Amino acid sequence: MTTVQDALSHIAAEDMRHIMRVQSAALKAIHDYMYSNGVLQSMPVILSPMTDPLNHPHFDANVEYYGQRLQLTKSMILQKQLSLFNGGMDKVYFMSPNVRLEEARLRDTGRHLFEFTQVDIELKDRTKKDFMQLVDGMLAYIYEFVVRECLDELKALGRELKLPTVPLKVYESEELKDRYGEQFETIASEKAEDPFWITNFRREFYDREDKERRGYFHNYDVFWPEGYGEALSGGEREYEHDEIIRKMKERSTDIGAYATYLSVSEKGLIPRTVGGGLGVERMVRYLTGQRHIRDVTMFPRVPGEKVVF
Ligand code: ASP
Ligand code: MG
Repeated sequence: MTTVQDALSHIAAEDMRHIMRVQSAALKAIHDYMYSNGVLQSMPVILSPMTDPLNHPHFDANVEYYGQRLQLTKSMILQKQLSLFNGGMDKVYFMSPNVRLEEARLRDTGRHLFEFTQVDIELKDRTKKDFMQLVDGMLAYIYEFVVRECLDELKALGRELKLPTVPLKVYESEELKDRYGEQFETIASEKAEDPFWITNFRREFYDREDKERRGYFHNYDVFWPEGYGEALSGGEREYEHDEIIRKMKERSTDIGAYATYLSVSEKGLIPRTVGGGLGVERMVRYLTGQRHIRDVTMFPRVPGEKVVF
């Protein structure tokens, strides 16, 4: 999509209005669910001195403002943790825009945008089990609400959604790797009929690693079924200064960039939290059965592709 005419046709497509209606219903379901579960909505940040390091190849996006280097948010993970420093709040969520300048090789995965929004949730003094329960309930509620509210739209899009059985199944990454090999995420998603969890991935410094069982991480992803792939990533978090430093070093993270965060962890003041982020556009792509994530965004930002508007 490189011309103004193409971009206008994309916006004007008949399917687009059905897709936006499904998106609106899904977002309403999320907000209602959060409200009734006492999860408070806070506003996102877009520029900060620190953001998610993202341990995979990508380009940085930052600006200089009055002598301070500020980064565009890749994820609000560290701010999510810090927001629970408020003693009267123990559950929080953000509708958080993320800018991740991914490489052009991800253009055709159908799942990547270099600008997207996630529903970023964090809970204090809870475990991954509590978080999984909250998310299972949220997903079931979204399905029910969308199927009920968007009958006509789903029909027009030729999409049939089967309500998932909760609790969703939970698999260990090692177990699936043994069964399906290195491409286990893709294959498991293709074979599944309901969304499902996979636990234990080696990732960024902030996901908690078991102290007694090094190499075991208390984190997870949710996957959409029918081959739609990753829906949510999250985990229990590191909150102890020494663990954070050790893991930053292991991952060659630029420690200086996290100076303010580390001054808090050094005092032992990072709250003990668990959470995760659900990709909004990926969810809408799955709910509406679209081939490429481009087709569920009015103004697509596909890696390596020219931006028109
Ligand atoms: N950092 C994750 C992501 O942005 C979200 C999370 O762990 O809460 O993919
Ligand atoms: Mg992820």
